[in-house]
Parts: sequence; structure tokens; C-alpha cells
Amino acid sequence: MSNQKEENLVSMDKVVSLAKRRGFIFAGSEIYGGLANTWDYGPYGVELKNNLKKIWWKNFVQDREDMVGLDASILMNPRVWEASGHVASFSDPLMDCKKCKERIRGDKLIEQHLGIEAAVGKTLSQISDIIHKNKLPCPKCGACDFTEARSFNLMFKTHQGVIEEESALVYMRPETAQGIFVNFKNVLNTTRKRLPFGIGQVGKAFRNEITPGNFTFRTREFEQMEIEYFFDSDATKWEKLFEEWKKDSWHFVTKLLGISEKNLRMRDHDQDELSHYSKGTTDIEYKFPFGWGELCAAAAYRTDFDLTQHQKFSGEDLVYTDPENPQRKIIPHVIEPSFGADRLTLAVLLDVYDEEEIEGETRVVLHFHPDLAPIKVAVLPLVKNKEIITGKAREIYHSLKKYFTCEYDESGSIGKRYRRQDEIGTPFCVTVDFDTIEKDDSVTIRDRDTTSQERVKIADLIGTLREKLYS
Ligand code: ATP
Repeated sequence: MSNQKEENLVSMDKVVSLAKRRGFIFAGSEIYGGLANTWDYGPYGVELKNNLKKIWWKNFVQDREDMVGLDASILMNPRVWEASGHVASFSDPLMDCKKCKERIRGDKLIEQHLGIEAAVGKTLSQISDIIHKNKLPCPKCGACDFTEARSFNLMFKTHQGVIEEESALVYMRPETAQGIFVNFKNVLNTTRKRLPFGIGQVGKAFRNEITPGNFTFRTREFEQMEIEYFFDSDATKWEKLFEEWKKDSWHFVTKLLGISEKNLRMRDHDQDELSHYSKGTTDIEYKFPFGWGELCAAAAYRTDFDLTQHQKFSGEDLVYTDPENPQRKIIPHVIEPSFGADRLTLAVLLDVYDEEEIEGETRVVLHFHPDLAPIKVAVLPLVKNKEIITGKAREIYHSLKKYFTCEYDESGSIGKRYRRQDEIGTPFCVTVDFDTIEKDDSVTIRDRDTTSQERVKIADLIGTLREKLYS
């Protein structure tokens, strides 16, 4: 492994440890010894992920004339998953190491050793052959002795109904997209939208991943933010919309979330890598400490596959009638941008994490974009034991709280409190000191990134902070 990777691996450890220490992300069910690969978002983590989802929703749903939102249920009629192809083909090639019993994904083992071209589009028997012929080792014990690859369906199953014998098998949705397709007609009829238009949805999805890991990068329960953008494929060229969506997705990741472009790249799927429904897919990849990995699907062209399938399986008419020309009846085609809220949150944390030398001391700082920062402003009295100062600080805290997510902190030295706010990425600290009371009714605003301080009149505080945070 190269030095660069080793260095990056350390930073994953550091981010995991900071996330726990400062209340962003905890191991799930920790007091019971945990449950593998489950993670719980703590007080700052939930603010961060909520901010990310809010930015997504505002940008892709609320700010656009051609988009509406939806919140469909996780449990759906099982026929949905027959129609979508998930029952038949939403599976990964599973292999067991005969020596240590470790379960691996055959395609990922090939990808890791021989590159992505060698791994994509292979049948189960080809995967077994490649692994056996190249003597690829088990990541856990190093042995080269695997069972043949077999297909492992990733959908979680459960049962609905109180009487066990009569209860029906249902699946936990492995993607939010299908909730959008089955509601296409409902949305069309109630909103009277015309093509092209899109439906956006945020919600949990579940996949029984064979090899979860790398912190929250791959888990079995995660949140997706998906868009299905419907269009008439004769009236609009799919390539044009595809390019527009790629641009919009890139803009969201780089400008609204502020993830550095140097750590991002677009990657088009090869023909034999495409999913069963797709004619073209472009991912945005992030340079994670373990290597480049899919961050989100900037755009996937799903053709009219899904609506056609649902029309066939449900027997319902899912045809769109052109209001300008009622003779013209079509099944809309679809472009799908698909984002993972947890994976994006992880990429943001990795991207903003920094260690800096200041006056001979190292400080850890998270350089969040202000819109993402869990706390926007911390109000700190210079000392804890002077009621006149803490009282004023509390008063300021309550007046700011109406406008910004704020925190009041009086415990420990002022230097320590600044460090703590740096570690949770608070853009500004407002400090109330003796001059505030004795002299001029002003406070200091400390900037997280530069650590510089300026004095501002209390009367101007809200306006100044607003300008700094949002302009
Ligand atoms: P991968 O190749 O990493 O398994 P995928 O191609 O199966 O991902 P999609 O089906 O395109 O993923 O899902 C869209 C997005 O949902 C992904 O880009 C990712 O951000 C997120 N996502 C998918 N699977 C997981 C998971 N197991 N854990 C966390 N996020 C996930």
C-alpha cells in the first residue's frame, strides 16, 4: 500500500474518533456490544445530516418549478419488486472462504486486485474462474480457497401481519425510487404537471450488503435522496437532460456542500457495467482514504423500463397523454440522479477535517460550509464566575437563537472552548468580556477559519452574523 493511502487511512481513523468524541456518529447499540455496521447519529451528526438533506430538498425540489416531493412508505406490495427486477436480479456474487469462513463479494475482490474492468459484467462462473485462476487471496486469512460464486439477493425480508402462518412476506425497500414510480399517476393527476418534470424523495433504504464497512460508507440501512425526472423521449433528447443533470449534481456536491473538486471525479459506467434498466450512468466518485469510491449517481438513464414494467405487473394505465395533442400517448422516460445522505455526510466530514499548527499547538478544525455546520454560532462568556458577564452572554444567546442554531458554553478556559467549537466546525464564536459590560456594549466575533477576532456592537450582531454566514 502506498504512503498516500496509509496517510489517508489515518485520517479515516481520526474522523471516526472525532465523530465519536464530539457526538457526530456513535456505534449502534453500543452498550450491548454493538450491532455490526450500524451507526447512530449524535446531537451534531443529526444536525449535519439534516442540514445536508435540507439543502438537497431546497435545491432540487423547492427551488425548481419542474419538481415536486414525495414521501412513500418503506414497505410496499411485493409485486413492486417483481416488476422492478429486484426479486430476480438485485443480487451480488457471494463466495465463502473455505478456511476462515469469511464471506466476500467476488466482483469486489476482483476489482480490488485486477481493476474494475476485470470485474464488471461477469457471470457467476466467470467470477469463480477469475478468482481461482488468479489465486486471489481472502482478505481476512490470505488463503486462496473459495466456494463457487452464488447469487445472493440483497433485499431484506420481513413478515407483515400478526398471525404467523398467514403473514405475508414483504421486503424492506432497497431503493426509494420505486415509491416514486408507483405514485407517478397520483402525482400527475393531483399536480397537473406536464412533462418534463421530476419527483424527489428522501428516505431510508435497506440492503443486506455482503461486505459492509468503511464506517458509514457501506451500511445495511442508509438514507437515499433520489429524483426521477420524467420526459417525453421524442420531444427531448435524453443526452441533453443527462448532461444537465450531471451538471446539477456536480453543482450540488461542489458548491452547495463545498466538497473540494480535487477529491472528486465523474466516472461513466462501461456498457457491461450498467444495471439491467440503464442505458447510461455517470457516478460522482470521491477520493476516500481507502481509494476512489462511488459518492452518488449523478445521472442514470433508466429509459421507460420502470413505468412499463409497473403498467404490465399492476394492470394500471400509466400512460401520459400530451395535453397539447391528446392523440399522443406515451410512457415517459426517466433520468435518475441518486444520492446517499450518509455517504455524502461521510465525504463532507473527511473533506472538511483539518489539523493546523497554531502558536505551537495543533488544533483540529472542521471547515464546514456555513449551511452545513451543525452549530452556526457559539456564545461564550469570558469567565464563568461573574454573573454580570454570564447574564449578558445568556441574554445574547437567547436573542441569537431565534435566528441561528446556537450553543451557549461557559465551562473551561476560553481557549479550550474555542478548540471545542473548532472541532465541531462552528463558524463563529461570540465572546462577552469585561469591556462588553464596562465600556461599549460590544462583543468579539471569532472566525473559525482564520481565528481572527473583531469587535462588534451588540446592536449590530445579528446583521453582521447574517452577512458573514449567508452572503
Ligand atoms: P455501490 O456500488 O457502492 O454498492 P450502488 O451503485 O449499488 O453502490 P446505487 O444503487 O446507485 O448504489 O445507490 C445510490 C446511492 O445510494 C449511492 O451512490 C450511495 O451514495 C448510496 N448507497 C447505496 N448503497 C449504500 C450502502 N450500502 N450504504 C450507504 N449508502 C449507500
